[in-house]
Amino acid sequence: MQEQRYLVAARKYRPQLFRELVAQEHVTETLKNALRLNRLGHAYLFSGPRGVGKTTAARLLAKAINCQTPLEEREDHAEPCRRCEACVAFEEGRSLNVFEIDAASNNKVEDVRELRETVRVPPQGARKKVYIIDEVHMLSNAAFNALLKTLEEPPPHALFIFATTEPHKVLPTILSRCQRFDFRRIPVEAIVARLREICVAEGVEADDESLMLLARKGDGALRDALSAFDQAVSLCGTTLRYAELAQALGVVDLDLYFAVTDHVREGNGAGMLAVVEQVVRSGYDLQEFAIGLAEHLRNLLVARTMPDLSLIEAGEATRRRYAEAAQAFEEADLLRLLGLVADLESRLKSSAQPRLQLELTLLRMASLPHAVDLRRALDMLERLAKTSPSRPDSDAPPPTRPAPGPAVRSTPAASKPPRPEVAPESRPHTASETTSLFGPPALERLKRNRPEGSGGQAALAPVEEATDVLVAESPAELLAALQERWPEFVRRVAQIRRHVGMVLEDTRPESIEGTTLWVYVRDPAYARLLQNQEKFLLQQLHAFMEEAQQLTALRFRAPEPEDEAPAQAAPPAPEPEDPTLVLERLRRTSPVVQKLIDQFGCELYWGNGQ
Ligand SMILES: [Zn+2]
Repeated sequence: MQEQRYLVAARKYRPQLFRELVAQEHVTETLKNALRLNRLGHAYLFSGPRGVGKTTAARLLAKAINCQTPLEEREDHAEPCRRCEACVAFEEGRSLNVFEIDAASNNKVEDVRELRETVRVPPQGARKKVYIIDEVHMLSNAAFNALLKTLEEPPPHALFIFATTEPHKVLPTILSRCQRFDFRRIPVEAIVARLREICVAEGVEADDESLMLLARKGDGALRDALSAFDQAVSLCGTTLRYAELAQALGVVDLDLYFAVTDHVREGNGAGMLAVVEQVVRSGYDLQEFAIGLAEHLRNLLVARTMPDLSLIEAGEATRRRYAEAAQAFEEADLLRLLGLVADLESRLKSSAQPRLQLELTLLRMASLPHAVDLRRALDMLERLAKTSPSRPDSDAPPPTRPAPGPAVRSTPAASKPPRPEVAPESRPHTASETTSLFGPPALERLKRNRPEGSGGQAALAPVEEATDVLVAESPAELLAALQERWPEFVRRVAQIRRHVGMVLEDTRPESIEGTTLWVYVRDPAYARLLQNQEKFLLQQLHAFMEEAQQLTALRFRAPEPEDEAPAQAAPPAPEPEDPTLVLERLRRTSPVVQKLIDQFGCELYWGNGQ
């Protein structure tokens, strides 16, 4: 009895009756009927994902066939009695008439030949000789063909049950000789219900969220959920509490995911980096974190769009939490967040710096609201494109004036027409954010808050090497020196703040007025971005070049966009162009938009409101 306690749950609670097999009623009912009507086939194929009960069902069938109790005396007129000599022998593993073969390790033609020899010998004191061949798709072709011979002329006392996770790899000639049953993934609720029964039997106390967690870990396979249960009991004892359990099993705590979406709502990039720090420190697998995050966003999406919360695989309390949190998001926001996370999953697989990838994605998520501002940027670009003489896409129709027309619209959330420039302020913005085209320079703000070196990247201290002196006495000389060494300066800035360096590439020092250095920037959007970095850039410049220390201010100047044309001069508003075409053309033809997309992870997005 003592050793019974140490049996793993998956074995201890392996179903002994058809009715105990979870969530495969479509299979068990058919098998029971075949037993009652004595219409058994001679070969069955059980296919389906791992851990859902294929082998267990095969054993149940073997036991029920050879059970010596007459059908009419059995439960449901079909279940094995579990008392007769055959049933007892089977459950104790001493049955001489049931053979289990793992095709993964016995896949050679000799193994099948041996089987064919023994098949001829009639069973001893039983109805049938049952051969259960697990992972049958692993058999070699020669072995398959040998098996086929047996299946073509099976002795009447033989019954074959094949199990496979990959039925498409089984030869069609074999498939055609089998009755096939497809086993299903087990729904989470069914696994939870089974776990609850086992908890009662084992004297384990567990909250709903814990059971959900174990069930989700099983991912549709009861066997895996039961292994997780064993692990949980050995780690946490007989009282399972969600937080403790999540930690013990290395499952990312839901709180962390809710923290991520809170930070998205608040545009809090620093909070995002803190989340990454915690994920790394807790030793979570980043890929797993990303998968969990996608699941979290999907749950929010369900909560936002569906009245029925049962599609969220979580306990009641968590479902309510999702319903509440989802109110802060628009469906479109959630879809875009999901898109970012889907990209992240694939990039994590190939990246040498997975942590950096995770950070970048979370930062992008935190700056998501600024997509609204991007539309303003597109507006400006549109106007620029109109004035630019060298439009590469000259055969395309001229871009329409965005102003009252549909080229740039506010989101449905705001519904504050008619001026698209009035960005919908559905989210909190600080004063400084509203002055910047791109909102807060999230990356920069974050990097300042980030502990030095924690990112393993870009933590180079400002270098002190620039001592070759070109004594600049007049502003003209200083300007010339700056112009000459500007590319070098840009590279150095890029080492410290990559994104700033990238934006700086397209610039050149233009003039010095008093102690102010004017820098020419090709694009107004970049000018504002750089202006926000003035303090940092000035500091870098001072360190870079001694003579530059006389400079006290940096001004970034871009060519003025076309002056507001007088209203009456505008031609009658043309037919609104298909917005997606406008966006697509911008993507193709505007280097600025391309850069925004490539470097900042911006997306082109079209609000569908009126
Ligand atoms: Zn029996």
